Amino acid sequence: MSLDPSRAELAAMMVATTELTADFLAGLSAAPASRLTGAKPFDPPAEEPGEFAELLAVFREAAANAVDTAGPGYLAYFPAGGLISASIGEFLSTVVNRFTGVAATAPDLVALEDSVLDWLCREFALPATAGGLITTGGSLATLSAVVAARHDRLGPRHDRGTLYVTEHTHLSVAKAALIAGLRPDQVRVVPVTAEHRMDPAAAEALIAADRTVGREPFLLVGTAGSTSTGTIDPLADLAGIAARHGLWFHVDGAYGGGFQLTERGRAKLRGIELADSITFDPHKTMFLPYGTGVLLVRDRDTLRAAHTVDASYLQDLRRDPWPPDFCDLGPELTREFRGLRMWLPLHLHGVAAFRQALDEKLDLAAEVHRELSALSEMDVPVQPDLTVNVFRRKHGDDADNQRLLERINATERIFLSSTRLHGQYLLRLCVLSHRTDAARVAEAIEIIRMLGRE
Ligand SMILES: *Cc1c(COP(=O)(O)O)cnc(C)c1O
Repeated sequence: MSLDPSRAELAAMMVATTELTADFLAGLSAAPASRLTGAKPFDPPAEEPGEFAELLAVFREAAANAVDTAGPGYLAYFPAGGLISASIGEFLSTVVNRFTGVAATAPDLVALEDSVLDWLCREFALPATAGGLITTGGSLATLSAVVAARHDRLGPRHDRGTLYVTEHTHLSVAKAALIAGLRPDQVRVVPVTAEHRMDPAAAEALIAADRTVGREPFLLVGTAGSTSTGTIDPLADLAGIAARHGLWFHVDGAYGGGFQLTERGRAKLRGIELADSITFDPHKTMFLPYGTGVLLVRDRDTLRAAHTVDASYLQDLRRDPWPPDFCDLGPELTREFRGLRMWLPLHLHGVAAFRQALDEKLDLAAEVHRELSALSEMDVPVQPDLTVNVFRRKHGDDADNQRLLERINATERIFLSSTRLHGQYLLRLCVLSHRTDAARVAEAIEIIRMLGRE
């Protein structure tokens, strides 16, 4: 096929693509939650053209050898499902292939992307100076937040700067610090309370003690939904400490931030509106396909100040303060137009559809907690703040519980992951996919009940 196919060839490819898409979606509820064989090698591309149908078949088979992260039984890590409306948006974005690294080359598309970020800033009750950036994920959002915090609070000299996390802070914060050129000893670990939350008094004491020995505390990181247990740090207290001591306050809401769209979530996340920056992953809590993260900052100029470098070959392209030049707000210059994969689902389904789906996930996770707690053989040690439950068999060691996880996943109806608290192995079940419904949750509980007894 030529590099620009004819209209008839295009139509044929679209029909085959639609068939594959519809079959895949229709098959999700019956598909195995995981079925894995080892990786196999693939042929290099040939000089001669291939057949689209054959190439689609190769892709379909390769995709089937996987944990089914799109399906309703995926309850491991942070499920996302993947809205098909976002995939369609993504397809159309790449068809028009506009350059959105700067505003001047596609001002309305940049404004359209910015309208989604602006809406998110309002949902998080950030002030009018706020702005954001759509990244490829939480890790990249956090990297830019750390860089902005460092630039804003320390300037170019940062060898005495220290930032504050807990043992439950996501590894992406330490990784961002590493990439940003900070030493491991500049990442300070604050003790947690018995409920696995950052201890505010301990944070304040550590910050004060560090300052007296010549360190320069610059960044306090609160977690809104930890990876192991979905626990929320006392954000309002941490914001107060950061303000008193002149630290930048970053909230890692990669997972939990999305619950700001619900009334219950907003109540639990109180204090997030005081953040200087927020990481939020729509590829988790807005059900979007992987590759969609968001960074929101209280003052867009702080992000710009930390990321702007000028070059003479861009001189024709810099103009107004709005719409923003996204290349000035993060590490990328050329980027795909990411706005449509958020804008299209939000406008097509309506915001209420997201609020309701997230509310349903909170209900289902509470149901999981009730049902598992009612099982005499199970220990369910953490009351969930959001939609993560952890549990283990009371009368069994770590190896027994690891075998229980293997047996649960071998049913191929659900797929769970595990974590550790106080060194102890725990199974972990997170309800978050828009495709996980009450029936699949009931089935999950039944599977755990049956296998947990054996
Ligand atoms: C997923 C997650 C991250 C990392 O985000 P990626 O999108 O995987 O890069 C950071 N923090 C928390 C709390 C997360 O759940």
